[in-house]
Amino acid sequence: MHLEHHISLKPLHTFGVAVKTRYFVEAKTEDDIYALLNYRSIIRMPILILGGGSNVLFTRDFDGIVIRINTKGIEAKDFDGQHILVTAQSGENWDGLVKYCVEKGWAGLENLSLIPGTVGAAPIQNIGAYGVEVKDLIETVRFVEIDSGEEHSFSKSECLFGYRDSIFKQTLKGKIIIQSVSFKLLKLQPPDDPAFLKLDYGDIPQELQSMGIKTPGIAGVREAVCRIRRRKLPDPDVRGNAGSFFKNPAISQVQFEDLKNKYSSIPSYPAENQVKVPAAWLIDQCGWKGLRSGDAGVHPDQPLVLVNYGNASGKEIMDLSNQIMESVYTRFGIQLEPEVNIF
Ligand code: FAD
Ligand code: NAP
Repeated sequence: MHLEHHISLKPLHTFGVAVKTRYFVEAKTEDDIYALLNYRSIIRMPILILGGGSNVLFTRDFDGIVIRINTKGIEAKDFDGQHILVTAQSGENWDGLVKYCVEKGWAGLENLSLIPGTVGAAPIQNIGAYGVEVKDLIETVRFVEIDSGEEHSFSKSECLFGYRDSIFKQTLKGKIIIQSVSFKLLKLQPPDDPAFLKLDYGDIPQELQSMGIKTPGIAGVREAVCRIRRRKLPDPDVRGNAGSFFKNPAISQVQFEDLKNKYSSIPSYPAENQVKVPAAWLIDQCGWKGLRSGDAGVHPDQPLVLVNYGNASGKEIMDLSNQIMESVYTRFGIQLEPEVNIF
């Protein structure tokens, strides 16, 4: 392993903010991770784990060691005849795993196509898109505790998954390194049975229609999701961003009825015993869409996405996000919560 000093994190995260870390190292094997934990216990320095850097905002230089997880490997074994258990190392590219499974004909992950980042980060915020959350497919998450070096394997229920949330984003935040994730996927018999597909969410039906596909299989769903995402979402290689900056808030039925009386066009979706209101709509109503303050801005088509037009600092992006939260709260009484991990 090669320990680098005082390097820039700008190319290592999708917001592209110019910050530095005191030390940087890439872990390519699980043994590398254990060696780094031993080393760290000697030098007692803050540690920050990085995957693809697509869900982080750095607001200052990091005075510690950034460890980028780049462990590789995918294994599959039969689960119960109908299902297959796929285990991927944390450093595997998320969309690479989805593509691999779709090509093998294993169903479940296809709606989560083209989400940036690594396998190891997927359980942290329980990534979700187009009506599927990764918790629906996760069987176990294997991780090591940073302080003790102890290994654990958590079942789905132990991970305490919620909407863009898990135990790894709450009590275990910053205390563990996820080593691998196992997914229980369906071996389709026959290969593309529409009964198992999630096709009714967002733009998927129209996209399938415009592709001329009447009975889509998992490959068709993946292709539709990829097309929609390429069209709708800003490419971080072109414009720095970390996807949705805020979570979609869930409010009580009573608060929703109140708002509906004042704002008849307010969109909503059921969310267990609450009502989910798209944060993008709230932000747009407050007039933020397309606004820019220096090099920090709100995307002109996707108000939930904050962007770096080039040289925005993490603090400028944070200041903008605070102003947005304040104005949404003042107008609607809804407290937005950042989805992005802020350091
Ligand atoms: P990073 O940004 O590197 O890290 C995120 C957090 O996880 C950090 O706190 C980090 O310390 C921690 N971490 C990372 N790896 C490990 C590990 N192995 N062990 C312990 N901690 C770790 N998210 C969605 O849910 N749905 C979407 O549809 C979606 N679309 C996106 C679109 C765009 C254009 C972008 C830029 C982002 C999008 N995201 C989406 C957010 C992001 O892609 C996901 O949250 C992704 O899982 C982050 O992976 P990463 O490897 O880049 O994590
Ligand atoms: P969209 O389809 O225009 O929908 C806008 C919002 O409405 C979404 O946030 C979605 O909530 C909600 N929604 C739409 N249809 C729904 C339904 N049938 N039931 C419940 N909720 C519904 O959203 P988009 O911006 O183009 O994104 C498409 C998908 O990709 C969404 O699932 C979104 O979460 C995901 N995505 C996530 C990120 C990220 O960084 N987290 C970035 C880009 C896209 P949900 O978000 O709860 O699905």
